[in-house]
Amino acid sequence: MTYKDFQKKFPDENICLEYIFQHKFSNTKECPSCKKKFKYYRVKSRKSYECGECSHQIYPMKGTIFEDSTTALCSWFFTIYLFSVSKNGVSAKEIQRQIGVTYKCAWRIGHKIRTLMNSGTPTKLNGIVEVDETLIGGRVSGGKRGWGAENKTCLLGMIERDGKVKVITLPNRERETIFPILEANIEKGTVVNTDEFRVYSTLPTIGFEHQKVNHSKYQWKNGDAYTNSIEGYWSNIKKSIFGTHTFVSPKHLPKYLGEFDFRHNHRKGFVMFDEIMKKI
Ligand SMILES: [Zn+2]
Repeated sequence: MTYKDFQKKFPDENICLEYIFQHKFSNTKECPSCKKKFKYYRVKSRKSYECGECSHQIYPMKGTIFEDSTTALCSWFFTIYLFSVSKNGVSAKEIQRQIGVTYKCAWRIGHKIRTLMNSGTPTKLNGIVEVDETLIGGRVSGGKRGWGAENKTCLLGMIERDGKVKVITLPNRERETIFPILEANIEKGTVVNTDEFRVYSTLPTIGFEHQKVNHSKYQWKNGDAYTNSIEGYWSNIKKSIFGTHTFVSPKHLPKYLGEFDFRHNHRKGFVMFDEIMKKI
């Protein structure tokens, strides 16, 4: 969707509200109050719709991310549009500049939209899946480097070749932590590609086929076995998240990761704006 398309589709508040109403109630058959045929009319002075039979009122924004917000729906929709066309994410500063709200409000709006992009239960990955861990974040100089550094967060990434991705933060790199995550997110019988990290050597015991490359021996490709996709994804995440946002706290990092996964998983054959809107 181009910016022109967007403007044409959502020119004012009433049309945005109507969009939400349609989205939530277009399949409703009967009035929840009088049980007669669902026929509601817009109440002009309010952000609500009224039953033609019993005058029961419905507020379509209730239960959505727009509830209790004083920001115009047009601004919300435009921010969602920005998220949908951005490759690297949208910072609170950018939202503040674009829709003219306070930084605090912009930050809140951004996180509400991220919550949408993080919702729902994705299907399990299958085919050939590359699995790898990496460290992310941390701005403090000095101190311990690499694994065990206090200011870093450890991530576990699972990616289908040319397909979907799922990234999760890890409290540690133990088998007891990693294996349940793999079982919850990858279909049994899948071919899992990893590097030589010891934990993965027992992958067949939980029903995966295992192929590995030995990076410590300068081996990057072993027939069909390689982990280039996940390594490419790591580098994109690091560039994008930390290029867009000057600082992401470990507490909020999972939401940004989910946003990034969402973008990757909807990159082909989806209208991103509609995909986010589906979740309001
Ligand atoms: Zn009614």
